[in-house]
Amino acid sequence: MLHTEFASDNTSGICPEALNSIIEANSGVMASYGNDDWTRRACDAIRDLFETDADVFFVFNGTAANSLALASLCQSYHSIVCHKLSHVETDECGGPEFFSNGTKLLLADGADGKLDLADVARVVAARTDIHYPKPRAVTITQSTEVGTVYSLAEVQALGAACRDMDLSFHMDGARFANAVAHLQVSPADLTWRAGVDVLSFGGTKMGMPVGEAVVFFNHDLAQDFAYRCKQAGQLASKMRFLAAPWVGMLQNNAWQIRAAHANAMASRLGAALSAMPGVALMFPVQANAVFATLPETTAATLKARGWSFYSFIGAGGARFVCSWATTAEQVDALVADIRQALP
Ligand SMILES: *Cc1c(COP(=O)(O)O)cnc(C)c1O
Repeated sequence: MLHTEFASDNTSGICPEALNSIIEANSGVMASYGNDDWTRRACDAIRDLFETDADVFFVFNGTAANSLALASLCQSYHSIVCHKLSHVETDECGGPEFFSNGTKLLLADGADGKLDLADVARVVAARTDIHYPKPRAVTITQSTEVGTVYSLAEVQALGAACRDMDLSFHMDGARFANAVAHLQVSPADLTWRAGVDVLSFGGTKMGMPVGEAVVFFNHDLAQDFAYRCKQAGQLASKMRFLAAPWVGMLQNNAWQIRAAHANAMASRLGAALSAMPGVALMFPVQANAVFATLPETTAATLKARGWSFYSFIGAGGARFVCSWATTAEQVDALVADIRQALP
């Protein structure tokens, strides 16, 4: 059957490198709760990737990774600056506030889903009195919720500003792989060398069945994090199965090959759409998602034909997400149907 699924990158299955590791890990009995060789190997692979001695924890999903990471940066009377479109604000059901016992998210703005430095400074400086929650952290999403990517210089500038303002710096990297594939810079440069204290490193959307890594570059902030995970129901007893896919994905650069493919599929789609009359790209296509305004009748026709995509901002706005599993034939079939469905 024709693959008609462009709703998200989490609609795909498990990619072979991740699955093979899981199958390999499924032999024999092993220590539980992370005291096994697979977990050790996965942590070491992540430390190698980032060229530093980071503290690494595995959790089940991105909401937990973000919520628990942010909670570890803040007290309940603090606040966290994020983009108004950020996943932590719009898609985590108040998880960051809940797990931090009330830390408030402060919304800032910026073009293309990226925090604008001046707006962050404005939000941080807006109130300094005792009656307002004290800004304590900044979180950015890389790649962003609208398929764009912060440049290395933009991350570095935000990192420097955080240092100046005495704020911790968190990165929601649910699609970190796609950002690295786009920028072609080292993961270390894009994170701790640019001032990132903690990264939520996404595994699910790059091809794993489940699991994200929380990577602390700042050891002090990782204090007692294991207890946070356990209390939140995020400590896997058969940890080897959360860890094994990381070993497979980080071997032979598979995570980058898969992410680069997803990005290439999105740029193939973006290029085709940008040439169509009546269709406009809403954001530059830099990672694995394409946002476009389609005529309303076109969107309706596509949905009636079974194409699955998320209708995002405003009437007619459509989000198409590509994954490791998306093929050029699928993209071309979608393009052909869009062309046919134009008024
Ligand atoms: C998918 C996603 C997450 C994680 O979502 P879960 O459903 O909790 O795994 C986090 N941040 C961003 C930007 C995402 O797209």
